[in-house]
Amino acid sequence: MADEAFACRMCGHCCQGQGGILLTDKDQTRLAAHLNLGLEEFLTRYTEPQDGKIGLVCGPDGCCVFFKEGCGVHPGRPDVCRAWPFFHGNLVDETSWKLIQDYCPGVNPEVSFVDFVRQGRRYLKDNGLCRDDRGNAPNALLDSKKPEKGS
Ligand code: SF4
Ligand code: SF4
Repeated sequence: MADEAFACRMCGHCCQGQGGILLTDKDQTRLAAHLNLGLEEFLTRYTEPQDGKIGLVCGPDGCCVFFKEGCGVHPGRPDVCRAWPFFHGNLVDETSWKLIQDYCPGVNPEVSFVDFVRQGRRYLKDNGLCRDDRGNAPNALLDSKKPEKGS
């Protein structure tokens, strides 16, 4: 059996930088409930329009507004945070997978791309993290209905 293709090292790289944490409708509801806020108040305080979708704002430190020595909303975090590093691009493009190994120390370089893809697809399916029919889902999420390369 292959080793684990990914295990988070809690370095926080993926919580830094402006934009990119786009929220599905389900994410918005879940985060608002996690923070004990009404949906409107949550949206006003913590989100902004990004590329025609709704994204989390950054704090003054340039990190996600919820990053405080780790994810401050971990049980309620958005689907893109749950799905990383098994993003669509990293599952269909071996070069992308190689590039993210510099960025994310949780990606195991000893595990082959084929096993990364196999484990990632299973993880996303088991956890309901594919974009599929959700029209508002971030493009980073895998469309599991699209055929895999070479198939
Ligand atoms: S960059 Fe990778 S190892 Fe670091 S916190 Fe994000 S998922 Fe975890
Ligand atoms: S919600 Fe949590 S995991 Fe996602 S970017 Fe913000 S701090 Fe990081």
